[in-house]
Amino acid sequence: MLYQSTRDNAVKVSAARAITQGISKDGGLFVPESIPSLSAEELRALVSADYVQRATCVLGKFLTDFTADEVAECAQMAYASGRFRSAAVAPLHELEDGVYVLELWHGPTCAFKDMALQILPHLMRVSAGKTSDGKEIVILVATSGDTGKAALEGFRDAPNTKILVFYPENGVSAMQKLQMATQEGENVGVCAIRGNFDDAQSGVKTIFTSKEMGNVLAENGKMFSSANSINWGRLVPQIVYYVSAYCDLLRDGKLKMGDPINVSVPTGNFGDILAAYYAKQMGVPIAKLICASNRNRVLTDFINTGVYDRNREFFTTTSPSMDILISSNLERLLYDLCDRDDTAVSQMMAALATEGKYMVPATVKEKISSLFAAACCDDAQTAETIKTVYDKHGYLCDTHTAVGVYAYEQYRAETGDTTPTVIASTANPYKFPASVLGALCDDDAADEFTKAERLHALTGTEIPAPLSGLQGKTPRFTEVCDKEDMRRVVLRSLGIGE
Ligand SMILES: *Cc1c(COP(=O)(O)O)cnc(C)c1O
Repeated sequence: MLYQSTRDNAVKVSAARAITQGISKDGGLFVPESIPSLSAEELRALVSADYVQRATCVLGKFLTDFTADEVAECAQMAYASGRFRSAAVAPLHELEDGVYVLELWHGPTCAFKDMALQILPHLMRVSAGKTSDGKEIVILVATSGDTGKAALEGFRDAPNTKILVFYPENGVSAMQKLQMATQEGENVGVCAIRGNFDDAQSGVKTIFTSKEMGNVLAENGKMFSSANSINWGRLVPQIVYYVSAYCDLLRDGKLKMGDPINVSVPTGNFGDILAAYYAKQMGVPIAKLICASNRNRVLTDFINTGVYDRNREFFTTTSPSMDILISSNLERLLYDLCDRDDTAVSQMMAALATEGKYMVPATVKEKISSLFAAACCDDAQTAETIKTVYDKHGYLCDTHTAVGVYAYEQYRAETGDTTPTVIASTANPYKFPASVLGALCDDDAADEFTKAERLHALTGTEIPAPLSGLQGKTPRFTEVCDKEDMRRVVLRSLGIGE
C-alpha cells in the first residue's frame, strides 16, 4: 500500500517513508491510497484477542512494507512492556446502560497521546532502517500540552534521534508544564513560545517544509520528522482502540456483531476523531461521529455550516489540549470526502492560509452532515458535567472527557438517538487537578499537588504515580522564545551555525 499527499496525487511513498518524512514536501498530509477493510470474520477473531494482537492486525493492514514480525514486535514493545498501567491498555468503563467511556490515559504520561506515541518511536526506528540512510532523525513537536510530554517520553534516549518540543507559554496546565520541563533524557529539548498552539504548529510546519532548513539538515547528516498527528504513524495506532472497544463490547455481550455504535470524541487537531472515521471506513459499525469542542468551537461551526473560519477570538479554556483553531487533520477528511481531489484540497488550504477561511462544496457538506454531529461546551458546562457525572455515576473524569460527555448528551437530547455510545476519555483527571477539584467543591489549595491530594481524599481515586512523582522536581527546561525565533532555537539545539 502506498501513501499519497492530500495536495498532490502524484506523490506516492511507502508507509516507512510517510512515517520518517512526517509531512509531504508540498505541505500536504500523507494518506493511504485506499482504506483496507476489516471483515466481520476478522473482527470476530479479534474478540478474544489481547490489545497487542488487535494492534498487530490493524497496523499490519496499513504498514504493508513492514514484515509481520516487525509489526508484531512494535506492538509488543509499545503495549506489553509494562508501560501501561492497565493490562487491557484501553479499557471501557460503563457509565450507564449503553454509555461507555473508553479510557485512553493509562500510559506513562496519563493522556491518550501515549496510545500512539508509545509505538511511534518503534515504527520510526523500523521505518528509518528502511529509508533514511543512517541520517539522524530530528523530531519537532508543537504541543497543546499532552503530545509534547508523550513524545518526549516515547522518544527519550531513542538511538539516532533528537526531539525538540515547543509549547505555548501560557496555554498548558501547570501539571503539563511541569511534566515537560522536568523531562529526562540525553536527546530531548523543550522550549515555550510566546504565542498559542496554532503559532507553535504553523512555526513547526514552516520549518519542516522549508527547503533551506531541509538542506541545512541534510548537510549535517540529519533529517526532520514529526510526532504530531500530521504524521501518519500517529494516526494509525489510534484506529486500533476503536476496533478494540468494539471487540470488548462484543466480548462482554453488550452488542451483537454488526450492531451500530456512536462515538463522541473531544476534538482539537481532529486526529482522534479522524481515526474513528477510518475505523468506520474499515468496517467497524460506527454510525455517528460526534465531534465535541470546547469554547473554541471552530469545528462545531464548520460541521454545522460547511464554512471553516478561523478568524475569531482564541480562548484559553479548562480543556487546554483542545484550544486550537486550525485543525490540521481535517485536511485528510476533506481529501477523502472530495473523492481525492488534490486540487480542491490545495485550494481550500491555500484559502485557509491566506484568508483564514474556506467553504466546502455542497456535496461535501452533505456527506459531513450524514457522518458527523457536533456540539460544544464552555468551561461552566464542563465543570457542571464533571460534577454531574461524579454525583450520578461515581465516575471522575477530566475536563476534556467532560466535553465529550456533554456533547454526547446534547446530541442525544436533540435527536433522541439512543444508539450505544463510546465516549473517548482522553486524559486522567489528575492532569488538571485545579479544574477538576474546582468543579466538585470550593477549593483554596495553593498548588497543584495539594489540589491533587484533596481530590484524592474527596473521591478515593488514585493519583497516577507519574504525576505524584513530579512533586519537588526541579525544572530542567525554562527557555521561552518568540514564535519568530523557533528556527534559531532548532538550529542552536542541534549545534548548527548561528
Ligand atoms: C490532544 C488532546 C485532545 C484532542 O485530540 P485531537 O486528536 O487533537 O483532536 C483531546 N483531549 C486531550 C486530553 C488531548 O491531549
